[in-house]
Amino acid sequence: MSYTSDELLQMQEKHVMHTYNRDLLLVRGNGSYVWDDKGNRYLDFTMGISVCNLGHCHPRVTQAICEQAAKLVHVSNLFYNENQPLLANYLASMSFGGKLFFCNSGAEANEGMIKFARRWGNAHGGRNQIICMDNSFHGRTLATLAATGRSKYRKGFEPDVEGFVFATFNDLASVEALIGPQTAAVMLEPVQGEGGILPASPEFIQGVRALCDKHNLLMLCDEVQCGMGRTGRYFAYQHYDIEPDAMSMAKALGNGLPLAAFEVRQQYGDVLTPGTHASTFGGTPLACAAGIAVCQTMMEEKVMDQVARSSSYIFGKLKELQERHPAIREVRGKGLMIGIDLGDKVKEVFAACRQNRFLVLTAGETVLRLMPSLLVNQAEMDEALAILDKVIP
Ligand SMILES: *Cc1c(COP(=O)(O)O)cnc(C)c1O
Repeated sequence: MSYTSDELLQMQEKHVMHTYNRDLLLVRGNGSYVWDDKGNRYLDFTMGISVCNLGHCHPRVTQAICEQAAKLVHVSNLFYNENQPLLANYLASMSFGGKLFFCNSGAEANEGMIKFARRWGNAHGGRNQIICMDNSFHGRTLATLAATGRSKYRKGFEPDVEGFVFATFNDLASVEALIGPQTAAVMLEPVQGEGGILPASPEFIQGVRALCDKHNLLMLCDEVQCGMGRTGRYFAYQHYDIEPDAMSMAKALGNGLPLAAFEVRQQYGDVLTPGTHASTFGGTPLACAAGIAVCQTMMEEKVMDQVARSSSYIFGKLKELQERHPAIREVRGKGLMIGIDLGDKVKEVFAACRQNRFLVLTAGETVLRLMPSLLVNQAEMDEALAILDKVIP
């Protein structure tokens, strides 16, 4: 590096907006570990907020990126490229065989999915209202903020984009009560992430599906965080024996390259026609090459079987910890999307994990959130569990 860390942080301070509170300067990653500028190693159970699901710098993804970067990086969506159809084919085969639109971020995918639902609803009875869930998170653009149930994110950015109303997650009657002549769709995260690692109950999500069928509404799933294998299925809705009409995906799709998409069922494949939606960077050859490597690795290396084994191991051990540590109110989640409800102890535990060079996240107001690599091994899980045993009161 030609600049010292102090010089870099001065430039940062002066010229990068202070919209995040952060302290560590990370320079390198490999599998479940990252290193800071001073050479310290950290066990990473954040994975870039469930982005690097196959671990940092997974060799197959790195190789795909390097080879594609030398061949063709970007051509715009005025032309076909070789990788988009292949990636769409993989993702469709991992889900409900629909049609995809590629973009770059979770918010952009949700924004597109909302536009899709409005366009369909407006054409079917002038309906454009979407029922969303309290405590949900769908992104930071104006429409996705308006769809987000956690009002603290919207504060100061009024007026809200119109057309969103809120039901209570896991309370079917609250959804039914909101359905009216304006309703076009119901939108939810099968496992709420930012809200505190809260899985939908089967009765709730299947009930929403039935309500959507009965009232001719679209069921929209935000799988940005819980999708791409995080919960032990390719997509979290697959735990519930239902299919949505559309879903968004992002975070882990490119294992670190910005890549996102939303998929709609075949019967809705022509709702968005040429000129109605677009994204300059959506589905570049480079990003799609990373996505293809992710899908191939997940399928060929049976990553979902590995997640099932690791999940039952770590949940078993966490339940043991719960018996010894009064601060643990609940351990919940699916697959390797793990929440430990610590009540008002969450901040001190979070800080103590960092002290022990163990990177974790929080969610909601009281939950410690663990999202390790889907390829995490037992030694790494044991290392994490030993630190948690040490730092949780
Ligand atoms: C992270 C997240 C988003 C927003 O994704 P960005 O890529 O940050 O725009 C949307 N929905 C859910 C469920 C998320 O976890």
